[in-house]
Order: sequence, then C-alpha cells, then structure tokens
Amino acid sequence: MDIATLYYFTYFDHQFREANSEKEFLMRTGIGYDVHRLVAGRKLVLGGTEIPNEKGLLGHSDADVLIHAVCDALLGAAGLGDIGLHFPDTDPKYKDISSLTLLTQISDMVRGKGFSIRNIDTIIFAEAPKIGPYRKSMKQNLAVALNISPACVNVKATTTEGLGVIGEGEGIGAMCVVLIE
Ligand SMILES: [Zn+2]
Repeated sequence: MDIATLYYFTYFDHQFREANSEKEFLMRTGIGYDVHRLVAGRKLVLGGTEIPNEKGLLGHSDADVLIHAVCDALLGAAGLGDIGLHFPDTDPKYKDISSLTLLTQISDMVRGKGFSIRNIDTIIFAEAPKIGPYRKSMKQNLAVALNISPACVNVKATTTEGLGVIGEGEGIGAMCVVLIE
C-alpha cells in the first residue's frame, strides 16, 4: 500500500469512528458497591426479599443494599452517573420506596440508551443472617426487574470472618458487576 492510500484509509477510519463513537465499544461493564448500617426496628430487605432478622438496614428507601449495588453497576456501565443522582435521598418521594421500583426504572433507562443487559454477578457481605434460603427468591426478583432470565443473575454471599464493621454485625455490604451490550 502506498502512503496516499494509507492516508486515505486512516482518514476515513477516523471519520467513521467519530460518527460512531457511542457505538464504538459494543460491550460495556459497570461496577456497583454499597453498605448500609443494621439497626433495630427496621425490616431487612435484600434483593427485594424480606428476611426475618432482629435488625434491618437503615436508609431513606427500603435500604436494599444489594439492589443499590446493582443500580450503580448498571448506571456505571451505561455512563449514566449513580443512584444518588437519579433518586436523591433528600426527596420525600423516595422515602421507604421499594428499591425494586428504582431498579426497574434504571433498567428502562439503560434500555432507553440502546443497551441490552447480558448478565449480573453480585456478592452480599454479611455476618448474619444466612442468605442461602433466600437466594432463589432474590435471583427471581432481580431477573423480573431487569427483564432478563434468572440464569443471567448470580447472587453470592460471604462473611468477612468476623473482621471490620460488617464482621461485627454493624452493617451489610454488597457488590455487583454487570455486562451490557
Ligand atoms: Zn444504598
């Protein structure tokens, strides 16, 4: 290839990329992380499932820490900021709201930008209670809110071996990674 032809292709490749910059990266990933404090007198809701427990998570909404991590991962992948930007905790509209409602709205926003949600993987960090018996129900709730198959949703749980604020039972944390296309 001579230099003029090389220049020609380089120039048009650049023009093409400029015009298609939004679509240039077909797959995008996002990460979400959240922690809430455990207090007496609140319901414990994780992944949209109510779990019998002495204490529940403190927050403006239902404080569903797992769903908040999923929301932030999705917003991050789509380049849409974070959950606090869209649903400020100073707005009385969101007081005690089910976080599943927020997740459904965020899933619609992500689809509205032309993306489809491929899979999500999550971890709950909690010393107690045991998550195992509720895992299937959480997976189902997340899959319905995201309008994807439960096979594309994974929910894991781990303790922190008694270490730190989570290990001492003062709070519950969650992380999520998502792939959109
Ligand atoms: Zn939160």
